[in-house]
Amino acid sequence: MKVLVINAGSSSLKYQLLDTNTQEVLAKGLCERIGIDGKFTYKAPGKPTVDAADVSMPTHAEAIQAVLTALVNPNGGVIASMKEIDAVGHRVVHGGETFACSVKIDDKVMAALEENVPLAPLHNPANITGIKACIAVMGPDVPQVGVFDTAFHQTMPPVAYTYALPYEYYEQDKVRRYGFHGTSHRYVTQRAADMLGKPIESLKLISCHLGNGSSIAAVCGGKSVDTSMGFTPLAGLPMGTRSGDIDAGVMEYLMNKHGMDIKEMLNVLNKKSGVQGVSGVSSDFRDLCSARDAGNKRAELALDMFSYGVKKYIGAYAAAMGGVDAIIFTAGVGENDAQQRMDIASGLEFMGVKMDADANNIRGKEAIISAIDSKVKVLLIPTNEELMIALDTAELAK
Ligand code: AMP
Repeated sequence: MKVLVINAGSSSLKYQLLDTNTQEVLAKGLCERIGIDGKFTYKAPGKPTVDAADVSMPTHAEAIQAVLTALVNPNGGVIASMKEIDAVGHRVVHGGETFACSVKIDDKVMAALEENVPLAPLHNPANITGIKACIAVMGPDVPQVGVFDTAFHQTMPPVAYTYALPYEYYEQDKVRRYGFHGTSHRYVTQRAADMLGKPIESLKLISCHLGNGSSIAAVCGGKSVDTSMGFTPLAGLPMGTRSGDIDAGVMEYLMNKHGMDIKEMLNVLNKKSGVQGVSGVSSDFRDLCSARDAGNKRAELALDMFSYGVKKYIGAYAAAMGGVDAIIFTAGVGENDAQQRMDIASGLEFMGVKMDADANNIRGKEAIISAIDSKVKVLLIPTNEELMIALDTAELAK
C-alpha cells in the first residue's frame, strides 16, 4: 500500500509517502511558513530535489495540494496519479483518554478530536487542520487515519498516571499523566524484541527517546507502564529548551519577583530552559559538546544534568518493573551522541549494565552496544515514527 504520512503543525506540514509493503520512503519533504510566504521542499531518491521559496500556501489545503502536485509531477514525481495514494496517516499529538490506539477518522472521531483540543491547545488544532485539508483536497473516499502520541501510554496503571492533586481534577478535568512520543517508544520497543529474538510479551524494556524533546518509557510485556512526560510534554527530563520537572512553587516565586504573568512564565519553562537555559550556549547537543570540550563549565553542567536525569529514570523504571532486560537509545541525541550514552550507562554496572566502548562508537544504525556478557542489553535503534504511522494506517485502511 502507498500511504501518505502527514505531521501538521500550525504553520508547517511534514510529509512522507511510503510503500508499506517494502517499507521504502518514496518521497518526503516539508511545507513551511504556511499562511506567511510559503516554503516547499521535496526529496525523492534519484529525482531532482525541489527547494522553493514564495510558494502560495495561504492555508494547509494549498500545502497539501503542493505536496500532491509534486508527487505526481512527471519530472520528479513518484506516482502517476493521486489515486495511487491508498490512505493518509496523520500524527495527532493528544488523544486524551479517548484514543488508546490508532483510528480511522470519521465524523465521530473528528468530534472527539475537537473535544481533546483543550488538552493540547497548541498542537491538536493544527493536526485537525491537516486532516480537514486532506479530506478537502483528496475527497472523502481516501481513508484518513489518526495516530496519537499519547495512545501507547494509555496502558499505564492509575498508580503511574495519577497526580497527587485533589481527585476531582482528574475526574472532572482529566488532569493526569498522558505521556508523549508513544509512536516512537512503540516502534523501538518492537524493534528491540526483534533484535533480541524474544517475544515482546516476555521483555522488560526501558526506552530512552533523547532528542530536542526527551522522554523515557518503561515498557513491560510490550505495554507502557510509566513514562517521564506528563499532562504536557514539559515534564520529566531537562530537554533542549524545556525545563522538565521543577518544583511548582518556583513559578509563583519567579512570577512575583520578575512581574511575569503565567504566559511569560510558561514561555520561560518551554522555550528558555533545559540545556539551553543552564548552559546559555545552545539547545543543540553538538554545540554543547564543543563548548564543553573548549572548557565551558555551564555547558558541561547542562550535559551532566541531562545524563544524570536519564540515569535516574533508568534506575526508577527498573525498580518499577522489578528488573530490566534491555535499555534502548533513540532520537537525535540517543542515536548520535556516543558520549551521552556512555555517561548515562556508566555507574549502572551494579544493575547489570556493561557497555562495549567499541560497539558504542556508532551513529544512527541499529546495534547492540553493550558487552557480550552484559546482563542488561543496551541497544541503539533509530526511531521511525513515520513508518509506524504508515503501518497502522495501512492496517486500518485495509
Ligand atoms: P530530534 O529532536 O530527535 O531531531 O533530535 C535533535 C537533537 O539531536 C539536536 O538538538 C541535537 O542536539 C542532537 N544531535 C543530532 N546529531 C547529533 C550528534 N552528532 N551529536 C550529538 N547530538 C546530536
